Amino acid sequence: MPELPEVETIRRQLAPLVEGRRLERIEIFDERWSRPLAPGELAAALEGRRVERLGRRGKYLVWSFEDDVHLAQHLRMTGGVLWEPESEPTHVRVRLQLARGGRGVARSRLLITDVRRFGTGELLLGADALEAFFAARVGLEPLDERFTAQHLRALLRGRRAPIKAVLLDQRHIAGVGNIYADEALFRARLHPLRPAGRLTRPQHASLRLGLIEALCAGVDAKGASIDDFRHVDGLRGAFQDQFLVHRRAGEPCPRCGTEIVRMVVAGRGTYVCEHCQRRPRRSRARRRRARRGAPTRASGG
Ligand SMILES: [Zn+2]
Repeated sequence: MPELPEVETIRRQLAPLVEGRRLERIEIFDERWSRPLAPGELAAALEGRRVERLGRRGKYLVWSFEDDVHLAQHLRMTGGVLWEPESEPTHVRVRLQLARGGRGVARSRLLITDVRRFGTGELLLGADALEAFFAARVGLEPLDERFTAQHLRALLRGRRAPIKAVLLDQRHIAGVGNIYADEALFRARLHPLRPAGRLTRPQHASLRLGLIEALCAGVDAKGASIDDFRHVDGLRGAFQDQFLVHRRAGEPCPRCGTEIVRMVVAGRGTYVCEHCQRRPRRSRARRRRARRGAPTRASGG
């Protein structure tokens, strides 16, 4: 699934091509994409409007049209966005046509492809609706300056869930998925099974840095193409060639040489150097204490 760096790559490539242009036509071939609206209803709300801005929030592309009309687009598992492809690819779910631009810019075609058909486009009318939509679904952007070690500490306080599970929950932190969670935890030398609420202050700081470094490296490499992710011109990202641990089971840790292992955490294939990222030692002792009836730390989420 495209994560923050992949969606941001698409946004950066697409924004200069679409901003200021009028959406002449949108054809939605899959009624699941526009739910709860019918394809015709969504098209009627968008057609003829000028694209003012193409933004991003977490893993969403946010199309902002004139008159405070917005479209929150999610690519989910296998969604892709292709600008003026030479031939029509398979699995096209949505076709957008942009009107001629100034200075001789010809009419343009944009295709949204999706093999598994989990991608969506949701209409939001007005800034309040836009804000409420994301407030219910997406936490703070990790590349926002407000994403401090203190913010992270408050976010994780009292949580018993493994740190990796908390990182993957979009309501806590926006845009981090399986790739960047593994890469950030390795950078921070934190085991993915460590209970989120038991990180120390230095660990909050190193996790924050690990997240920022992994995400920025992903953005700089224009995303990771390990599955369906492609640039709007069909080319691949390069971050998969820079993974430190993700999908590198059996290879030596780039830091210490210990073999990287794969395990399942929060239902996802997870890659760890168990020398650099020590397993939580206290988990067994805590279970023993709990059985004896000793007080355990209260926990939320
Ligand atoms: Zn190591």
